[in-house]
Amino acid sequence: METDGQFFYHPLENIEDVELFYEATERSHLTKAIASDRPYTYWTIEMYDQDNGFRGGGGLGVLAADTRRIAEKMGVPFVTIVPFYPQESKQVIKDGALVDEHIPKDYRDFGFNLIDKVYIKCCGNLCALEVIEKRFKNTRILSITEPMFGELYSDTSGSDHRLYQEVALGFGGYEALKLVGLKPAIIQLNEVATFFAALARLDELTSNGMDFYEAVVYTRKHTLYTNHTLVQAAEAEFSYEQFERYVFPNIKSLAVKKWLMEKFTNGRIKLSSVSIEIAELRSGVSKLHARVANYYDLAGNKVKFKPITNGIDLGKWVLPDILNSFKAKEIIDNQEMLAEDFADKVEQITAQEIRELKVNGRKILNEVLKTRPDQEGRILSFSGDDFIFDFKRRFVDYKRPDLPFRDTYRLRNVLESHNAHYIIAGRIHTGDENMLKKLYSILELVRKDDYLRDHVHYLCDYDEKLAFALSVGSNSAINIPIVGLEACGTSWMKDVMNYNLLISTHDGGVADASNKSYLNVSGADEHEELDNLLQRMEEAMAIWDNDFDLEYMVRLQLANFLPIISGTRMLKDYLDYLFPV
Ligand SMILES: *Cc1c(COP(=O)(O)O)cnc(C)c1O
Repeated sequence: METDGQFFYHPLENIEDVELFYEATERSHLTKAIASDRPYTYWTIEMYDQDNGFRGGGGLGVLAADTRRIAEKMGVPFVTIVPFYPQESKQVIKDGALVDEHIPKDYRDFGFNLIDKVYIKCCGNLCALEVIEKRFKNTRILSITEPMFGELYSDTSGSDHRLYQEVALGFGGYEALKLVGLKPAIIQLNEVATFFAALARLDELTSNGMDFYEAVVYTRKHTLYTNHTLVQAAEAEFSYEQFERYVFPNIKSLAVKKWLMEKFTNGRIKLSSVSIEIAELRSGVSKLHARVANYYDLAGNKVKFKPITNGIDLGKWVLPDILNSFKAKEIIDNQEMLAEDFADKVEQITAQEIRELKVNGRKILNEVLKTRPDQEGRILSFSGDDFIFDFKRRFVDYKRPDLPFRDTYRLRNVLESHNAHYIIAGRIHTGDENMLKKLYSILELVRKDDYLRDHVHYLCDYDEKLAFALSVGSNSAINIPIVGLEACGTSWMKDVMNYNLLISTHDGGVADASNKSYLNVSGADEHEELDNLLQRMEEAMAIWDNDFDLEYMVRLQLANFLPIISGTRMLKDYLDYLFPV
């Protein structure tokens, strides 16, 4: 048995090793089992990190990128394993229609190094995957890619191409990890598209001679499945025949193959059901979500999820002036850890400071808007006195981008009272005809109204940059998912941190705190919710008119939400869950 100075490590290739391992660690000391050659491994099908060449789909990808940056700050050895997509889509408005453009990407432009190639089997062929890597201090991004890998979320969710991408990430990524000499201390599956990573682990242990059941126990104890979805029924399925072409050929151990074959029901499989089987550790992304996520294991038992609410990387999402002010007031320290008496310290934030910093934020927004014309092709620029509401999020039904437009007459009156602007920014998933129709009908209503035409703006191709610019530059953010359907949401966190007034339904991570912590939207039905929303919008504008109210509201939001928003809190929660003392 070897010791690496920090803690003993060993390949753990057979059952004796596993027993020794547990004996030596007694689990309570497992934290130390994280070492630079045995890092925390985080598997994700998407990451939103445009500086490093990754455009994600939404919150899931933002979370992945934030988690690595937080690990970097906290000094945790950490590897993100994610595909590098050689093409990405960009939405533009052409002749009044929203269209997707496809842009090729080269990893060399983003500082990645080619390590070598690994191979997976698909449809009777050997597919070569390039392994590329970008290293930071104590973290790295490890990717697999090839010229025909395609775009993120191209094709439908049960398609061959998606299965290929997921198998490539799992089996290819696992080989890549071995290639760079790393063993996973923990495998975190950021949603079920990454299931094959844990399967590759199980297969390796078993095919290297470990007893199959011991290998299952071992893999289960070291795999965390993080769920972001609410309804298992909504998830795509794959067929046995698809697995024959893409999955089974990559499994070396007959026992593992048989185990997997038994998981099919009527020739179909859901990756969530096998993720539940292979991961003893399971988490949901907010308190409410962990409670309501409706998942069953194959034996028919309801699955329990540990609530670990998402947080954000403050260094990435907070206006630098605001972050510095937080450090000066010792609300957070230089590692962005929250002070114990943060709630008292936020009382030092004054209306004058809020207004001054907001002016700086608005400058950033105006700068970004120079390259982001609205639906009429206008380049917008706002003065410090303009009041801006924003609705910035993926354009999906449950987030209800259309709710305020169900009564344009009243919406107009509300905006007119303060000459306010309403900015909508949101990407529509390629091929989502229903949401495209909804967007066009909103824009049609806006076009027909001579006031709204100049005060409601749609900005297409919502991305990281626009998310930041709107968080720092607007006054109030509107977050109105149908209650029960948002897993967590993180854009509201960016808003609270940047002194925006949050108008929200009590859902996702927002519901981790009391509904008196922000401008809450509620109602017995959607009519009532709409009434309430418009009322809250009026209140938000009135609050900005009054120093005392502004201070009170900003402090209240921060006092209640800071611990939830803190990304370091999130990573500590994960570490505490994975390695209990
Ligand atoms: C923060 C962020 C999200 C997350 O949005 P939610 O709707 O709050 O989950 C999505 N997309 C981008 C580009 C973001 O920056």
